[in-house]
Amino acid sequence: LPVVAIVGRPNVGKSTIFNRIAGERISIVEDTPGVTRDRIYSHGEWLGHEFSMIDTGGIEINDQPFVKQITAQAEIAIDEADVIVFMVNGKEGITNADDNVARILYRTNKPVVLAVNKVDNFEARADIYDFYSLGFGDPYPISGAHGLGLGDMLDEVIKNFSEKTDNADDDSIKFSLIGRPNVGKSSLVNAILGEKRVIVSDVAGTTRDAINTKFIQDGQEYTMVDTAGLRKRGKVYENTERYSVMRAMRSIDNSDVALIVINAEEGIREQDKRIAGYAHEGGKGVIIVVNKWDTLKKTSSTQREFEAGIRTQFRYLSYAPILFVSALTKQRLTKLPGMIKQVNENHSKRISSSNLNDVIMDAIAMTPTPSIKGRKLRIYYATQIRTAPPIIVVFVNDEELMHFSYERYLENQIRNHFDFSGTPIKIITRKRK
Ligand code: GDP
Repeated sequence: LPVVAIVGRPNVGKSTIFNRIAGERISIVEDTPGVTRDRIYSHGEWLGHEFSMIDTGGIEINDQPFVKQITAQAEIAIDEADVIVFMVNGKEGITNADDNVARILYRTNKPVVLAVNKVDNFEARADIYDFYSLGFGDPYPISGAHGLGLGDMLDEVIKNFSEKTDNADDDSIKFSLIGRPNVGKSSLVNAILGEKRVIVSDVAGTTRDAINTKFIQDGQEYTMVDTAGLRKRGKVYENTERYSVMRAMRSIDNSDVALIVINAEEGIREQDKRIAGYAHEGGKGVIIVVNKWDTLKKTSSTQREFEAGIRTQFRYLSYAPILFVSALTKQRLTKLPGMIKQVNENHSKRISSSNLNDVIMDAIAMTPTPSIKGRKLRIYYATQIRTAPPIIVVFVNDEELMHFSYERYLENQIRNHFDFSGTPIKIITRKRK
């Protein structure tokens, strides 16, 4: 997806605009951690054009003076975005801080759309002409508070999306390694690639800054999508947590399968959960990779106990296979590509309606549908309407009668009959018309 970054000094109203444009994602399961609407990274849509959006103002760089902060934020916009929205405040005119941001943005060839916020009424529009002096062409007057002018501004933003091939003609399996610093992502990359002939490396993906590496194993082409902070270039913002979380989210968006890498020595942290939750809600295939397995002193129950811990902490990822590996000793690493392939197959699997309904009807016969206040849930039929991730619609007499525990029961029955390991399944209950 094309990336739009919003940049500007504090208090010009970036997050208000961001939240107005942010699109809602479909939540696969309702009880996942609230990562859907991260305040710095989200999906947006305008006139059928989808994009990712970053509020650079949300990426605070600790212990840096004000000027450094906004410099770093503008640099993030330049590095990450396809189109930059430079936001200023129409009520206050051009400030020194605006000039600072502008000066950094002059260095990029990327399109910059100048948005003048807080232009809440028609009279205020007269003042926007001052902003031509910033040198970014026509200023677009908007009002975050009243939602005015956003349409014209977004028209200009999407006009600047370039035609991208977007890997459309590519049937390789795209996966990413996601995890906190030092869990061993780079070591895993090197160990997986080993002596394999890498077909293309360092080829820009959808954005200039993505590094995609392609390789073939057993006749299958894989693309390792790598935007999650493998490179350490030493820019001030690269080590901030929010920035690395945002990179991880982007990698997930560009992948079919996300490998959540956990360090066996350290166990699961809050950030792991947020990112895994994002992959789940995005409907991606998920594999949990426990690295540095060589470092633990093991008894016969170590693996079982570790697995139980993961299952408790990632309840919503009960479908995700877990692989215990070591980048150091290469233990089980040869299994990884095959597992990615299997998960990708499951993720894009389509079940025929007749097979699906056989399973559903058997399930109903074994455990009758629930009743609420004397009214019984009736299930007429089910059909899979989408793949990657699989979405199944169940037609019923009244969707209010569907209890989540019964829905989960149906999902388990479906999983018992068809291999959907590694992929979330979304079940939608609809009243039959
Ligand atoms: P990244 O930040 O996630 O890319 O992590 P690195 O790949 O840079 O690894 C961080 C440190 O962990 C390095 O010192 C590696 O040598 C070490 N490391 C990585 N994988 C393993 C492993 O499987 N076992 C052990 N013992 N050390 C590992």
